[in-house]
Amino acid sequence: MKYIVVGNGAAGMAAAEAIRDRDGAGEIVIYTDEDRYHYSRPRIIEYLGGSIDAGKLTIRNGEY
Ligand SMILES: Cc1cc2nc3c(=O)[nH]c(=O)nc-3n(C[C@H](O)[C@H](O)[C@H](O)COP(=O)(O)OP(=O)(O)OC[C@H]3O[C@@H](n4cnc5c(N)ncnc54)[C@H](O)[C@@H]3O)c2cc1C
Repeated sequence: MKYIVVGNGAAGMAAAEAIRDRDGAGEIVIYTDEDRYHYSRPRIIEYLGGSIDAGKLTIRNGEY
């Protein structure tokens, strides 16, 4: 089975993880209009404030 998830925010990632829990072999493709992997929205404030760099926003990277 092939699954398509649109959006790589919390909802999209939760959907992908729920699918994986039920189907360990299916292909999951996540489409997003973001230019980065799943990242922390709450930490955007720290990023804009200059206390962390953009890399620290990432929660799930490409390997995941
Ligand atoms: C600065 C900030 C701080 C926050 N702090 C907190 C907090 O402390 N606690 C808390 O509970 N919540 C917090 N939130 C809210 C929390 O981030 C959101 O509730 C959560 O991100 C919602 O997740 P979501 O997946 O529903 O939507 P989103 O995070 O908006 O993800 C949707 C994704 O889908 C993509 N997308 C949409 N349409 C398309 C399309 N047609 N094609 C391709 N991609 C598409 C978008 O680019 C986006 O990446 C904060 C939000 C912000 C902005």
